[in-house]
Amino acid sequence: MAKPVILTVDDDASVSSAISRDLTDRYGGDYRIIGVTSGAAALDVLARIALRAEPVALIVSDQRMPAMTGIELFAASRTHAADTKLLLLTAYADTEVAIQAINDIGLDYYLLKPWDPPQDRLYPIVDDLLDDWQAEHPEQTSDLRIVGNRWSERAHELKMFLTRNHVPYRWYDVERDQEGERLRGLADAGADDLPLVLVPSGQSLRAPTVVDLADALGLHTTARQPIYDVCIVGAGPAGLAAAVYAASEGLSTVVVEREAPGGQAGQSAAIENYLGFPRGLSGADLAQRALAQVSRFGAEMVLARSVTGLQVRGPVRAVLLGSEGEIEARSVIVASGVSYRRLDAPGTADLVGRGVFYGATAAEAAQTAGDAVFLVGAANSAGQAALNFARHATRVTLLVRGPSLDATMSRYLIARIEACENIEVRFRTEVAGATGDGHLESLTLRDRDTGGTEEVSATWLYVFIGAAPRTDWVGPGVLRDDHGFVITGPELTAADHGWTEPRAPYGLETSIPGVFAAGDVRLDSMKRVASAVGEGAMAIHLVHRYLATI
Ligand SMILES: Cc1cc2nc3c(=O)[nH]c(=O)nc-3n(C[C@H](O)[C@H](O)[C@H](O)COP(=O)(O)OP(=O)(O)OC[C@H]3O[C@@H](n4cnc5c(N)ncnc54)[C@H](O)[C@@H]3O)c2cc1C
Repeated sequence: MAKPVILTVDDDASVSSAISRDLTDRYGGDYRIIGVTSGAAALDVLARIALRAEPVALIVSDQRMPAMTGIELFAASRTHAADTKLLLLTAYADTEVAIQAINDIGLDYYLLKPWDPPQDRLYPIVDDLLDDWQAEHPEQTSDLRIVGNRWSERAHELKMFLTRNHVPYRWYDVERDQEGERLRGLADAGADDLPLVLVPSGQSLRAPTVVDLADALGLHTTARQPIYDVCIVGAGPAGLAAAVYAASEGLSTVVVEREAPGGQAGQSAAIENYLGFPRGLSGADLAQRALAQVSRFGAEMVLARSVTGLQVRGPVRAVLLGSEGEIEARSVIVASGVSYRRLDAPGTADLVGRGVFYGATAAEAAQTAGDAVFLVGAANSAGQAALNFARHATRVTLLVRGPSLDATMSRYLIARIEACENIEVRFRTEVAGATGDGHLESLTLRDRDTGGTEEVSATWLYVFIGAAPRTDWVGPGVLRDDHGFVITGPELTAADHGWTEPRAPYGLETSIPGVFAAGDVRLDSMKRVASAVGEGAMAIHLVHRYLATI
């Protein structure tokens, strides 16, 4: 496999060779560094590389060049290198232009020249950009291979699990890739053995569950201590923030996550309103950074396990893991978030995982290259997904029940959707049915004003509608509202909610003392990454106060 390319562009030959030299020193082993001195030469190189179907990971360009500026080059480069990371070298005077380019052309980063010393000013930025690129292009970097059918729900689950746990893999569709057929033959795998997972150790897993795969990869699926100070259920932003604060403050901490760290945020292609990241960052990137912090401070992660119940045993709280045992802790944080509601249109339930999907990771958009995609939803999550899919799919149709997006989606996303040529928004439209033999083949769309229906061919439907809390597992001891959101703090005492302790409940405490709730799962929470992170941190402050009372 050809090494991915890093292309550098600067009209000043000495700067051009300096940036190429610095990049070669650090990345030359894994990437092919090509240096040119004009935008036209860069486009020429990109066109030739595209013909050979070789990947381009990063373009680093000077802004001020005669004939074509760096930003003009980046805009033109999208034809040949749609997913390439873009790093602009600027002078201070061009800062505003660079910030504008973040919105206009998706510039990933701008760096003020000079970049000396590169160890401090260049490499950390390029490391981040290349890590993101690798995460988005696992097929270029991984030794883990999955062979399966693209309409298989199990294959979809495994791919989601790997992507969201930041484990790169290469995917081979048995029907489309000769290599997939060859690997299947070598492993002598029949139809029932698919998906077949070939792990780097040489082991081959036949139709494995997520837990089988996690175990084979050495990811922890069981807790190692008999009792913890705090057990956190859910590793979304709230749970991960709680874990970072708990472990860094010396509490023995375990986090149980049934799918993958990052929660809903892990599905976001670009979180643009989280403080400190002016360019925005993908949910996968945020989750990866948070996970690194969690493990640095020594919190334990238990992955691919679903919490099924909660018990009070005197001062101990037990979190039940179905047939997989239990974890005991002195306090518990419920951070299990919310998940998308299901469409109730006839036919959709049978096609889940085979063309009909709830949510999507950013990396998933690539598999729709060359196809048309339908999305359902009107909130920011649907808007971000539409823009992400539009980079790969021929056409994206966003189906919206209401008459406009104004009340539900941020203005900046609406503006970008309106400017995107291959996104169509159909208002007052809903999915009335889905059909397909083995996988999605057509949708029935209903006009909500006239009631008229229309049948359209469709292979991909991604659904991003309303949120329902994941709280069945907490049992009747934890009071919830009619929709299942957990009631906490002062609201417990405001009405007759059965709080019996002599002290008032702490701010995020539930009706069971020592059990706290943080993030989207909590009644009246703000449903944003920043608030979930804030509540996770605050929950730990309250856990300290609670532990001091027992
Ligand atoms: C596509 C998308 C884009 C978004 N974009 C933005 C944005 O740009 N800006 C913004 O501020 N917000 C955004 N949001 C909202 C934001 O992601 C959420 O508000 C935030 O993730 C809530 O965090 P949380 O930790 O409370 O819950 P969640 O993120 O829902 O995490 C809960 C976790 O708990 C796990 N879990 C649930 N039940 C169990 C169980 N029984 N056992 C074990 N684990 C369990 C789940 O698997 C999940 O990982 C977006 C959401 C989506 C879906």
